[in-house]
Amino acid sequence: MNLIFLGPPGAGKGTHAQRLMSELGIPQISTGDILRKAIKNETKTGLEAKRYIDAGQLVPDEVVINIVKERLQESDCASGYILDGFPRTVAQAEALDTFATIDAALNLSVPDDMIIRRLSGRRVCLTCGYTTHISQMNGNDVCPACGDKLIQRKDDMPETIQNRLSVYAAQTAPLVEYYDRKGLLRTVEGTGTVEENHAAVRKALNL
Ligand code: AMP
Repeated sequence: MNLIFLGPPGAGKGTHAQRLMSELGIPQISTGDILRKAIKNETKTGLEAKRYIDAGQLVPDEVVINIVKERLQESDCASGYILDGFPRTVAQAEALDTFATIDAALNLSVPDDMIIRRLSGRRVCLTCGYTTHISQMNGNDVCPACGDKLIQRKDDMPETIQNRLSVYAAQTAPLVEYYDRKGLLRTVEGTGTVEENHAAVRKALNL
């Protein structure tokens, strides 16, 4: 099954994609995680992407398209994958159509006020992608998955969150209609608990 997870930042794409990855045994491919790792390793792509990410802007289409195109050729993608955070523009979606066949686009819908609360308290592990909320950490910043430190992403700072929401509305929200027209869209309310939302995600995908 080749899946796309759509939705604004903080909608829960990563959380549900990671769960489905273990449940279905197919990889979660997060362009945000790949870019953050590239920044951490100071690669050429990372250095180029950093200023866009820190400002809450999108990284240029050709950079992310090449990353995804190469990643989908790896052997672990042969029996399916979950694209988390890609495509984010119509140009990316059109490029994806030239090298992949998508079975469903799952759209997680969450109102802005809830997104702002979630993102401003979000803490992540840059090594393994584990994500949590400050309210769940009891003052402990050690990643329970790999032992590295949990940090606040620069682009989760309040001044950048609003920018990311505007970028989402202008550049990514049109993809909801793009996939609806193709008959691939499945929309789920992402406002409940993680368990409730995940059950709704599975139901929408007939799992
Ligand atoms: P995310 O972890 O998905 O919220 O992505 C964090 C940041 O990485 C975004 O705000 C963008 O700057 C960049 N990014 C991730 N995926 C894409 C994409 N498909 N196109 C452009 N920029 C992206």
